[in-house]
Parts: sequence; structure tokens; C-alpha cells
Amino acid sequence: MPLTVDQAHYLFAVMRLGAGARVALFNGRDGEWTAEVVEAGKKSGRLRCLGQAAPQLDPPDLWLLFAPIKKERTDFIVEKAAELGCAKILPVQTEFTNAQRIRQDRLQAHALEAAEQCLGTYVPEVCDLQPLAAVLKGWDPARRLLWGDESLVGPAETLAGLSPGPWAILIGPEGGFSEPERARLRGLDFVTPVSLGPRILRADTAACAAITLWQSALGD
Ligand code: SAM
Repeated sequence: MPLTVDQAHYLFAVMRLGAGARVALFNGRDGEWTAEVVEAGKKSGRLRCLGQAAPQLDPPDLWLLFAPIKKERTDFIVEKAAELGCAKILPVQTEFTNAQRIRQDRLQAHALEAAEQCLGTYVPEVCDLQPLAAVLKGWDPARRLLWGDESLVGPAETLAGLSPGPWAILIGPEGGFSEPERARLRGLDFVTPVSLGPRILRADTAACAAITLWQSALGD
């Protein structure tokens, strides 16, 4: 199996591996595989697949919808959502979202690095930025949506009573959701507003807390 220039650079220049070294491989669908380095060049290389080391481990059917914030914090949200086990990540543009565009390819690469870091075999898809209104319009109501609603500040929900099935979490930007957005969310049958505790959390903290609470109630 030939390596790309980036892969060869990472394995042989950064990790300093050479011929005979063992590496773990995954493609997001077929579990983890062990391979041996058979050629190690500066910009190229070749691996030989030795066999499967672990089966595919897919996360539960949980999506994260979030409004992109500052670049580093958006990177953080994507990284942590991938580590904590989201199946899909959808950046959404809301009325108070400052970002007009995102680098989807960069965020997808962050999700891949996060999966590598936590030895996951699944890489969540990171979608391009879409208006929240359009996402809600095309929503399949079979997937229920937990809306982190900071106006409910009270005890953190355990989310213990949630029924299993496809779920998504929605977290707003620094300025929260506008009143028309809040009214729209309140009027949708598939939306459940939840409190994440008695404090107003930053959007990146809120995303991590909500995913963790959901995972503790319904995850693996
Ligand atoms: N509108 C708020 C303000 O300026 O006071 C702040 C919004 S908060 C920084 C960003 C997002 O995190 C919110 O839209 C909400 O989705 C989520 N969030 C933060 N704290 C929360 C809490 N205690 N309960 C539920 N969601 C929360």
C-alpha cells in the first residue's frame, strides 16, 4: 500500500519510523488494521497490511449542531465532538453567528486527528456551514433535537428519561439564539429544550457538557 507525501512525512520524519516498524491503520469503516513499513523514503513509502487488530467501533447515532465561534474554539468543538463520540457534526449559521464561512476541509482534518488520538475507528463527517433555518426545514422529525437553552438555567438535566433512537444536540453562539429563533425552536415538536446547569457556559463548554450528559444517559 503506497503512502501519500503527507503520510510519509508524518511517519518517517515526524515519528521517525523506519522499515520494519508496525503501524495501526483505519479508514473509518473497516476497524483497525496492523501494517508493517516496507519502504521508508523522504516523500514516499509503502506499507504491508498484516491483519485486522480490532473491529469497527461506530459511535451512537448522535449529531452535534453548533454555531461556529472563534477559529480556535470552533476547532476545539469539532475535536471534542469527535473524541466524545458524535456521528456527524453540522456547523449552523444562526442570526448571531459571526462566522460567514468555515474551512470545512480543515475541520474534517481535525476530526480525523481526534479520531486517531483517541484510537477510534470512526471519523465523524463534518458538514459545510448551513443556515439553521434551512437545516430545521429539512429535518427528519424521527431524529429528536436537544436544544441547549441557557434561559432554563437550573439543575443540570441528567437526560435520564430520554428514549433511545437518533438524537442531535443544538448549541448556540456566544450571543445565544435570537428571539425569533427561540420562538421557532419552541414551536417544533421534535425539539426538547434542556438546561446544562445553573451557569451560562461558553459555547464550547456547553457542547462538551451536552454530549457528555447525552452519552452518560444513552451512549456506549
Ligand atoms: N445568550 C447568552 C448570553 O449572552 O447571556 C449566552 C449564550 S451561551 C455563551 C452559548 C450557547 O451555549 C447557548 O446558546 C446554549 O446553547 C449553550 N448554553 C450555555 N449555557 C447553557 C446552560 N446552562 N444550559 C443550556 N445551554 C447552555
